[in-house]
This record gives sequence, structure tokens and C-alpha cells, in this order.
Amino acid sequence: MTSAAGFAAYVVIGNPIAHSKSPAIHARFAADTAQDMRYTHLLAPLDGFAATVREFIAQGGRGANVTVPFKLEAYALADELTTRAKAAGAVNTLKFENGRILGDNTDGIGLVSDIVRNAGFDLTHKKILLLGAGGAARGVILPLLEGKPAQLVIANRTVAKAEELVQQFQSYGDRPGILSACGFTDAWQQFDLVINATSASLQAELPPLAASLFGPATLAYDMMYGSQPTVFMQFAAAHGAQVRDGLGMLVEQAAEAFFVWRGVRPSTDAVFAALRTQL
Ligand code: NDP
Repeated sequence: MTSAAGFAAYVVIGNPIAHSKSPAIHARFAADTAQDMRYTHLLAPLDGFAATVREFIAQGGRGANVTVPFKLEAYALADELTTRAKAAGAVNTLKFENGRILGDNTDGIGLVSDIVRNAGFDLTHKKILLLGAGGAARGVILPLLEGKPAQLVIANRTVAKAEELVQQFQSYGDRPGILSACGFTDAWQQFDLVINATSASLQAELPPLAASLFGPATLAYDMMYGSQPTVFMQFAAAHGAQVRDGLGMLVEQAAEAFFVWRGVRPSTDAVFAALRTQL
């Protein structure tokens, strides 16, 4: 969508969508980087994602973020996929260019940026435990492997799903044997980084984890965020770990999408601080 003033139009598409913080985040990025763009919510009917995207493109739309429940449909709709979108098996960022739809995924790099840049945690040679084997877990495996950890263990309630991810990503690692799968109660050694990519926190539940996973040198990261620490963060902190929630991941995935569209990397510190006070 190009206005009379010539601004470029972007949206976040989902259902429901009114709760999304993305328009506020991108408005701040656009103001800070002097980009002439507008970014709004777009509600798509549950059976009308592709039609909604095509209508937005016909109106001149330049790009879109995609959220629940359409990330797999966005993957199927794209004419081209980035390596990280293929690895994630889902698309959260669409770019419309020269009549083609590019599908990307910035969730995983958002998590890694928050951990590496904002939390100051170097992934190299570290022992990482990833809890969960759903869409969010799958999306972070490649960016984590690119950080060259010593070990990446995927633990899930349904172990077979963790084993499938190990099979799928075995070829992405440059050193064999880095990846392995197990159930929650099979992991007991202390890890440098434990990432909760399950949706258990949404239900205020804690996977059955050993206290020995955590120590003072452990960073325990929950992808969920809210006004209070999650039960996972509370458990990890009680056993000495440093804790962090997923608000930074939200902001960093947005910054990466902004870069994909505009070729400019916005600063994220002020947006992060503003969102934190609003939670
Ligand atoms: P999925 O539904 O794809 O996967 C859910 C995962 O959680 C599965 O591994 C499932 O195990 C596990 N699980 C669900 N309930 C429990 C429970 N009670 N105990 C233990 N394990 C459980 O969800 P997503 O991967 O899309 O999302 C996961 C989380 O990540 C959500 O909390 C979401 O809000 C967050 N997220 C945050 C983002 C951010 O920007 N901060 C971005 C994307 C996601 P099983 O396979 O056995 O069913």
C-alpha cells in the first residue's frame, strides 16, 4: 500500500491480532531510523490467509509479519524461502518484491541476538539444553548451531518429536554428535544455557526438570514473557541460575524483520525498555 505521501505499508497478520505489540515496535523503529513507512494490524479470516495477503499485495503492501495460526500457511504461500525459513519449517516474515513473495523466519535469530548481544552470553563451546520440540524450538535450532556450541540437547515431553528434530538437523551441524534428544527427566547434568521453548509456561506449568540442571553459571531463558517471572524462571532462579524472559526475543525478531524489509538495523534498547514498563 503506497499512500499519496508515498509511504511503504507493512502489516502483522494473525487471528486474533489486536493484542500484537508489533505495530508499536515498528512505529518506533521507523521513527528512529527515519523510514517513511506505516505498520498496522491485519486480521485474516481463519480460512482466508492467502486471499488476505494477496489483497494486501494488490494494494501495494511491501511486507508482513505473520503470527499464530498462519506461520505454516505463510511457508506454503512463499515463492522463495530463506535457509532459516526452510530450517524452521515456518515463516514469520514476508517480503513482497518484483511480483514475488519471499518467506523468511526471524524468530530464531531474534532469540540468539537477545542471548548473545543483549545478555552478553557467548554460545561457543557451551552446553545447551532446549526444552520443547514444537514450532518455536525448531526455529531456534539452526541459529543455535551456528553459534558453535559444544552440545545441544533437545528434551521434550514427547521424546519422539525431539528425536525427529535431531534427525532433521544432524546435517546442519559441522561436527557430528553435537545434537541429541531425551525426555525431561533424563537430563540431569548442569548446562550453561537452558531454553524453555515449551508452551508449559502459558499454562503456569513446569516440566519435570532436575534442579541439578541449573547453577550460578547457567542462563535460564524462557521464550514466554509477562509482567511476572514464569514458573520455569522461578524454579531456575531458586536453584541459582540467572534468568531471562522472551521479551527481548520479541523485539529482536522484529528488528531483524525490519532489516529484511528496509536494509536498516534499528536500535532495540529503547523499545525493549518501553515494552518492559508496559507489561
Ligand atoms: P507448539 O504448540 O508448537 O509446541 C509446544 C511445545 O510445548 C511442545 O514441545 C509440547 O510438548 C510442549 N508442551 C506443551 N505443554 C507442556 C507441558 N504442560 N509440559 C511440558 N511440555 C509441554 O508451541 P510453540 O513452539 O509455537 O510455542 C512455544 C512457546 O514459545 C510459547 O510459550 C510461545 O509463546 C513462545 N514463543 C515466544 C516467542 C517470542 O518472541 N518471545 C516467539 C515464538 C514462540 P509435546 O510435543 O509433548 O506436545
